[in-house]
Amino acid sequence: MTKGKTKILVLGGGYAGVMAALRLAGKTRRLQTEITLVNGLNHFVERLRLHETVVGKQTRQPAMTEMLRGTAVKFVQGWATAIAPEARTVTISTEAGTQTLPYDYLVYALGSRIEQQRVPGVEEHAYLLDAFGERSASALQTRLATLRPADSVLVAGGGATGIEAACEIKAKHPQTAVKLLSSGDVGGFKGVTIQTHMLDALAEQGIELLENSPVASVSETGVALPDGRFLDAQVTVWCGGFQVPDLAKVAGLPVNRQNQLLVDPFLRSTACDTIYAVGDAASPVEDPGTPVRMSLLVALITGALAADNITAVLKQKQQKPLSFATYGQAIALGPEDAVGFNTFPADRPVGPIFRRKTAVKLRNFFVWMLFAFLRIERRLPGFFFWVGQGRYARQQRKIKRLETAVSPLESGD
Ligand SMILES: Cc1cc2nc3c(=O)[nH]c(=O)nc-3n(C[C@H](O)[C@H](O)[C@H](O)COP(=O)(O)OP(=O)(O)OC[C@H]3O[C@@H](n4cnc5c(N)ncnc54)[C@H](O)[C@@H]3O)c2cc1C
Repeated sequence: MTKGKTKILVLGGGYAGVMAALRLAGKTRRLQTEITLVNGLNHFVERLRLHETVVGKQTRQPAMTEMLRGTAVKFVQGWATAIAPEARTVTISTEAGTQTLPYDYLVYALGSRIEQQRVPGVEEHAYLLDAFGERSASALQTRLATLRPADSVLVAGGGATGIEAACEIKAKHPQTAVKLLSSGDVGGFKGVTIQTHMLDALAEQGIELLENSPVASVSETGVALPDGRFLDAQVTVWCGGFQVPDLAKVAGLPVNRQNQLLVDPFLRSTACDTIYAVGDAASPVEDPGTPVRMSLLVALITGALAADNITAVLKQKQQKPLSFATYGQAIALGPEDAVGFNTFPADRPVGPIFRRKTAVKLRNFFVWMLFAFLRIERRLPGFFFWVGQGRYARQQRKIKRLETAVSPLESGD
């Protein structure tokens, strides 16, 4: 431990990091703690609305100091560039220069960005639904505003982000040819029923689909396919999957292929019990009984749980394992349409399914509510709760039963 107060450093001020910092501030008020939140930008970003910002819609961008107002959390604007787990320090690059911040506990909440390295030319020529960088969502907004009638836009990625971006761009620029390209099928990630709803919407809106077409490279004038074809596009938007910053990997901590930090059921790095990872940046090695997907709900729950577990350690109490149930999901299909469905309890779509205005209202309500949870947590720390807290234990019992059923067979008994 460092001398004096226990230093808790939260890296990343997205949904997971802000939730963790606010909850820690409230729950450790009577303990001698010093909580610092580090974020590259000085404002909060509603990442799940970035596809709306590319067509000029105003989204909330509250200052980080406003998000933390009235709490004891100290805010440092800067980019984390290195972690030293042995020395328990993080290097931060700020406008004033480089700083080294010591910690007793680290909450790794750096989120994710669109992956750019796998396909040549993406980094240089494609626009991304990212909050920062040269080809960010706001740079795309500026570029789309200069489109000419004969120009075409190509969105690469058949997942939710690509579909949401294509629909929003087509609705704003109806004269522009918008193509949605996917290395596999488009919208197949939630099963056939939900996929059919999404494909109907894309067809109604006049978005051309190019399925099973992996991209070989991206240039300023379009994309090349491995079979030699070239698809012209004045603007290419890359939505090809998420990747976590590589700080943990460079620090020698165990990560997966997306650079997510591998964590135990209590959200601690499997190699270092003073580092907790949350949100998009974490990947649990044990099955919590519900699939863990990069999502807002998981970000809020893991942020809250890491705060609870660090508080438990400081109070010498038992930590709790990650265990939760999902409620639902809604995918925007332009400003006038969406598909929303119940996913309780294990992130599989079950009825009822909503479309059009009802689904748009549902989605907007959930987007508002998930943001509101942060506001409420600031005033009433510990308020945020979630269901499904017994699912991890049930899943572990199931795994044990299966293991004991298999082992006599293996030993030939
Ligand atoms: C277009 C789009 C639509 C989406 N739609 C949905 C949806 O409908 N439903 C859903 O559940 N999820 C959706 N998601 C995913 C959701 O936004 C993420 O899962 C969620 O934001 C993860 O929260 P987080 O706090 O882990 O990370 P983030 O929200 O990414 O926050 C991470 C923070 O860390 C900061 N940061 C990064 N690197 C550094 C560094 N080196 N130093 C300092 N700060 C750093 C970032 O600036 C950011 O503020 C969508 C994502 C996108 C891009």
